[in-house]
Amino acid sequence: MKNRFMKLLSLGLVFTMTMSMAACGKKEDTTKKTSQEEITTSTSSDAKGGTYKASAKGFGGEFEVSVAFDGEKITDIKVGENSETPGVGTVAIEQLPGKIMDAQSVGVDAVSGCTVTSNAILEATKSALEQAGADMNKFTAVAKVEQAEDETLNADVVIVGAGGAGLAAAVTAHQNGASVIVVEKMAKVGGNTILAGGAMNAVDDGSEEAIAHDDSVELHYEQTIKGGDNTGDAELVRILVENAHDSVEWLQSLGMEFKEELFTVTGGLWPRAHKPVDPVGTGFFNTYMKYIDNNENIEVRLNTKADSLIVEDGVVKGVVATGETGNKVTLNSSKGVILATGGFSKNVELREKYNTQWATLGETIKSTNHSGATGDAIGLVEPLNAELVQMGNIQLLPLGDPETGSLSGNIETDVEKRIFVNKEGNRFVDEGARRDVMTAALFEQTDNYMWIVLDSHSYPTGNEKNNFNESPLELVEQGRAVTADTLEELAKKMNVPEENLIKAVEDFNAHVEKKEADAFGRTLYSEPINQGPYYAAPRVPTVHHTMGGIKINKDTEVINQDGDVIKGLYAAGEVVGGIHGTNRLGGNALTDIAVFGRIAGETAANSK
Ligand code: ADP
Repeated sequence: MKNRFMKLLSLGLVFTMTMSMAACGKKEDTTKKTSQEEITTSTSSDAKGGTYKASAKGFGGEFEVSVAFDGEKITDIKVGENSETPGVGTVAIEQLPGKIMDAQSVGVDAVSGCTVTSNAILEATKSALEQAGADMNKFTAVAKVEQAEDETLNADVVIVGAGGAGLAAAVTAHQNGASVIVVEKMAKVGGNTILAGGAMNAVDDGSEEAIAHDDSVELHYEQTIKGGDNTGDAELVRILVENAHDSVEWLQSLGMEFKEELFTVTGGLWPRAHKPVDPVGTGFFNTYMKYIDNNENIEVRLNTKADSLIVEDGVVKGVVATGETGNKVTLNSSKGVILATGGFSKNVELREKYNTQWATLGETIKSTNHSGATGDAIGLVEPLNAELVQMGNIQLLPLGDPETGSLSGNIETDVEKRIFVNKEGNRFVDEGARRDVMTAALFEQTDNYMWIVLDSHSYPTGNEKNNFNESPLELVEQGRAVTADTLEELAKKMNVPEENLIKAVEDFNAHVEKKEADAFGRTLYSEPINQGPYYAAPRVPTVHHTMGGIKINKDTEVINQDGDVIKGLYAAGEVVGGIHGTNRLGGNALTDIAVFGRIAGETAANSK
């Protein structure tokens, strides 16, 4: 039995993807704003039929909402061209107008995980209704939600979390003959994975591209182990690197497309990252949802939060969850439960409790993560005494938006083509270094603040979109980046000493020419920064990935504090601890979730 709502959602995801892709080629339309003057206003106390427009400020700038009102009822809500984040804000655009229409009120909940876009739509709809002279008591009344009946569902394999690991596990378990139910607490699939830059490290040993980049599975292994200060689990790292390329091929076999060229992701240390064609992590979910929609006996239940595990005689037999309306959903599994709930970067209390690497990870430090990354699994496995490993290892990136901590607004394209400068206009670190090294260096700078500086080698026209569907020119217009034809002018706009910025760039360019390590030890170069227009955007440290978590063995079985397997319980993805050690290589997370998600799905489906 299919979850109809889920089907609609995934269709919608594909649709909004198409919309965002269409917007890519039309810069002027995506930045169009609705001026208040254009809005038809009504001063009469009587409601008047018509179409009323209001401008909404979303995550990716302004967009227009038009509300058709017949004098008594809202008959249509349309959201205009926008730059909301694919797979996140676009989900609110797709779901919320229907919810408002059904309730005939803006007193509905925001779509979970898409709060900024949701609130923008709700506010704009409210403003449009006010212009129509609608009875605002009626149209803002809190919508009543009737509690649905409790229900019991049965499947061979029950999976908690519809992020990258959960859906890789779901598809694999189904390919191995199991019936599968995935529960997801948010209103959408994707978790943090959908916000990822999309870099997936994998080496096809002996291939032309591996030879061209002097790369091998062994080098990937060595860099991963060394990049985590030799504290990662060697057996699991071996499995990660040896199954990486096979996972890329498996995704391709499901229809996922990757770009031809490999690239070096920040902190990835080597050009071995595969980049999906679709923006951010949406390619993975378009692929998985296509499989799920086209097959029977596999479904995703959204807005369903796992609260506890069902355990009989020490064996995990299912999950008890809360459904969207607060009803109880019991999920019995005959072959096993897979935990794929992600990390805890958004849970400040847990961050502070476990952090051993940073001076503080309190409220002042923001996160790149989605709001559901709250570490629920820790509570779920507590009664089973599951072993938690390396919980203190928490990865930060030096790439957060100063206001939100998000990776949005990040203008970098390739590691090789950009530099970081501080408020004094000076470089301060090897920009090709490990993530922990770069972030620690940023914490030493004035106000923990830096600028990414690059030139038209990265953006030939300025209209090219980053992963978040933003072009640098749009970011400039929103006041989130600056641009100038010369470095002197750029320095003025950045408010940094001109001579320092020029010296930093000149020094960098000299090393690009010589292709030799500079004073910071930087070795990754491709082109100089010498062709205007130049661009700069500010960044701060941000919490990105929790590397500690549940201990598993090579088959993804969860291990308890006595070192024994907890029967019927598997874990994969960011919820697992100890694979990466003290520092995860950029580009290894998407590999991790695909490789271990697949192992979990296969092992659970084939368990007796
Ligand atoms: P990974 O990269 O390991 O797959 P993600 O963050 O992409 O991790 O996905 C984890 C998913 O698990 C998220 O979509 C999150 O909302 C979901 N999740 C977390 N806790 C629960 C829970 N208690 N019940 C259901 N889903 C959950």
